[in-house]
Amino acid sequence: MDRKILRKNPKKIQQISELAEISIDRARNVFVNRPLNMSQVRYIGFDMDYTLAIYRKEAIEALAFQETLKNLVAHKDYPESVLKLKYVADQVIRGLLVDREKGNLLKINRFKQVCQVRHGNEELPIEVYFNDKIDQSDMDRFVSVDTLFSLPEAYLYALLVEMSKSGTLGDRSFSDIYDDIRYSIDLTHRDGSLKSHIIADLDKYIYQDPHLALTLDKFIQNGKKLFVLTNSEYFYTEKVMSFLLDNKHPGYDSWRDYFEIIIVSGRKPRFFSQQNPFYIVDESNEAETEFTGDRLDSNTIYSQGNYLQLEALIEAKGNEILYVGDHIFGDILRSDKDSNWRTALVVEELEDELRITESFRAQHIQLRQLLNKFDKLNYEIHMYSSQLNSFKRLQKQENLTEDEMNLCLENVEELESNVAFCQRDLERTERKTLKLRQEINAAYHAAWGPLFHDQDEMSRFGDQVRDYATLYTSRVSNFFFYPTSRYYKSLRDIMPHDRWLELSD
Ligand code: IMP
Ligand code: MG
Repeated sequence: MDRKILRKNPKKIQQISELAEISIDRARNVFVNRPLNMSQVRYIGFDMDYTLAIYRKEAIEALAFQETLKNLVAHKDYPESVLKLKYVADQVIRGLLVDREKGNLLKINRFKQVCQVRHGNEELPIEVYFNDKIDQSDMDRFVSVDTLFSLPEAYLYALLVEMSKSGTLGDRSFSDIYDDIRYSIDLTHRDGSLKSHIIADLDKYIYQDPHLALTLDKFIQNGKKLFVLTNSEYFYTEKVMSFLLDNKHPGYDSWRDYFEIIIVSGRKPRFFSQQNPFYIVDESNEAETEFTGDRLDSNTIYSQGNYLQLEALIEAKGNEILYVGDHIFGDILRSDKDSNWRTALVVEELEDELRITESFRAQHIQLRQLLNKFDKLNYEIHMYSSQLNSFKRLQKQENLTEDEMNLCLENVEELESNVAFCQRDLERTERKTLKLRQEINAAYHAAWGPLFHDQDEMSRFGDQVRDYATLYTSRVSNFFFYPTSRYYKSLRDIMPHDRWLELSD
């Protein structure tokens, strides 16, 4: 196509970009919870780990798992036999809760009802939580599996709970086991052991998204200023970002050329809730000196800091800043609640989740039909039964003629047979629904089902995504497919009493 013609004809360009949007693979869409006018956004901030840097999950999780086992033996006196445990990927999902007291992993829905429970290798009936209130604010008891970094620790917890049943772990309680794992995995992050392995073989642990540099460049070309705000230390940020962005796009020799401000060791979520000053990082030895200037410089690496000071230094406020991150609590919830920044949550699982939904479309439709049938049969049973009761009451009256009595008997017989027929159909429908649900759930995840839902409800994770993220998408480069000044419109909020309008669309 002749590009000169396009330049002379902006309307056409608009049409083309609309067409491009329509043809975006659904799994790569940017989804909108709350409206966001990108033309008002002046600064776009990016978290690094699991946001700009997409990790090869299986490799990094296996590494974190092995390093944690080593620490358990070295620092927490665990038997050497634990070193033989092997990491099996995809055994747990984000959004689960660890119940430290009972040694369980739970999936709960948005009403805090428990939908699935596992204790070690074993699936438990949800009834074990019937009289137990799930109070997520009880941090001593419940711990949320919020980031992809937490998956190995949740899986290891299930394995060690299982081991402890055979007495191999002495008299350690379920909460001791959780605390020991937490200590050990925390150490692998802090003492550099995890990161030294990653740095030594970046290709093994980090995927290079071919559209990342293009996306950042597109933002910049359209007047957006970009910044990095990561909890990672400088030495690690430098290595990972160089790997991702150095010499990946004309005009940007170094990754630093993309960003106006670089903040490492950002201490999120405290970045959004406390008043830590900014520090200047000495790139040769990582020494920090308190920053006292009145403007941030793109050639300097900063650490720590806080959102209020950042806003003052760049002279930008809530709706002028979009922050893109993967951590629902550290990146999204706190920035939304404390700072009023607009947020985009990166949920990489979304791609698989949507592809599965797409390929199970027929089953989803069938499930809806079965649920409608179930409702209809229940209604019919109710109607037949109440008529039946009326005829039975009538039968008992003494002043009925013989004809009336016969008519009554005929009706009672017919209604009883209708009720029995519907009951059988209801049981069949219930069995089919259960089987189909299991088939659909297992397609998402054999043990835990879909990430965003459970049965017909939203999962706790789905609910948090909806409540806190302005936008959500599977990766940063999905923004490439949209105009940089796009007005992201949210779908009309539907209340139950409005639903008929949707159905009649
Ligand atoms: P961000 O996502 O770019 O903000 O950075 C996440 C940082 O947190 C990485 O440097 C991780 O190594 C680090 N991290 C993740 N989990 C833990 C933990 O349990 N303890 C300490 N650091 C962690
Ligand atoms: Mg992150």
